Amino acid sequence: MKLNLNIQPLSSWLNVTHQPLVISGPCSAETEEQLLATARLLKATGKVSVLRAGIWKPRTRPGEFEGIGSIGLEWLNKAKAETGLPIAVEVANAKHVKEALAAGVDILWIGARSTVNPFTVQEIADALEGHDVPVMIKNPINPDLSLWVGALERINRAGITKIAAIHRGFSSFEKTAFRNQPMWDLAISLKTLIPDLPILNDPSHICGSRELLPFIAQKALDLDMQGLMIEAHIDPSVAWTDAAQQVTPAALSEMIDGFVLRKAESKNPEFTDKLAVMREKIDQIDDQIFQKLGERMKIVEQIGEFKRDNDVTILQVSRWDEILQKRTAYGSVLKLEKDFTAKILELIHSESIRKQTAIMNATKAELG
Ligand code: PEP
Ligand code: MN
Repeated sequence: MKLNLNIQPLSSWLNVTHQPLVISGPCSAETEEQLLATARLLKATGKVSVLRAGIWKPRTRPGEFEGIGSIGLEWLNKAKAETGLPIAVEVANAKHVKEALAAGVDILWIGARSTVNPFTVQEIADALEGHDVPVMIKNPINPDLSLWVGALERINRAGITKIAAIHRGFSSFEKTAFRNQPMWDLAISLKTLIPDLPILNDPSHICGSRELLPFIAQKALDLDMQGLMIEAHIDPSVAWTDAAQQVTPAALSEMIDGFVLRKAESKNPEFTDKLAVMREKIDQIDDQIFQKLGERMKIVEQIGEFKRDNDVTILQVSRWDEILQKRTAYGSVLKLEKDFTAKILELIHSESIRKQTAIMNATKAELG
């Protein structure tokens, strides 16, 4: 299924001065000096197209630094006047939108803690009505594609067509190396649903620590995301928010130099011919996989009927264990990751159980 949103291509509303598109700046504007000094160095790299800074900060706990507030708009405008960089801020309510628009902010973004709440998003959308400002929408905190899509729709319905999504990862109970799980599948599903939508990646909030940034940023570029939002601070060690994940402008510049930019496609006919042949092979193999899955399910149904007629339970744990062990061992020989084989088997197994349960229950119903 595709969703029809009215979206303008990113290149029509954002002047990308260096590839890849990088939006950078501190997590929070703290002081005029901190913001201006950071902005100057970012501009000097020649690799940053937009300056960002949070001035209204949604914090998990009260009492933490909640942003410098409206005065930050003046500082941002000074930085813009000096560097020529367009400026971006996070907005979380109608008042923020009004103030940011009055101050001439070039790009607004909606944070992860706002995207989760349709009331908040609608309030922002209503305040945007009649304005022609670009809006970037971060994914919601929780891995819910519909909430993200819903926010994009609300903003689009308010007449905003300069829209981009920002993938900043998802909160999860499970603690891993990442502050927020990337869950790339969700960003890919969004792109599949709305192919015209530019999606940027925010490795800073995914990683939570600067050491991981280059890996996530490169992966995002390899997945053909259209840009990066990376937090940078003149002195990250003393940053008032998100200290561990911010980098100096110099470190950012070095990181950008290390990126490998790959093309989404090649015009070289030899490449396209070879790719077409390989894709044809993949298509044939996929057909075979599904044919075999269909055959397997037919036998599963026969077994279901046989178990039913003999009053045997659907699940025999020992048999499932045996399948899992034999197949993952075979998978390893075929150079398939154990996790991958196990996931596929679990999917097949749960579908088999579903089918057999249906067969058992149908009989019960028939018997009255
Ligand atoms: C931010 O960009 O500083 C921020 C608060 O991000 P998020 O909404 O992704 O947590
Ligand atoms: Mn931050």
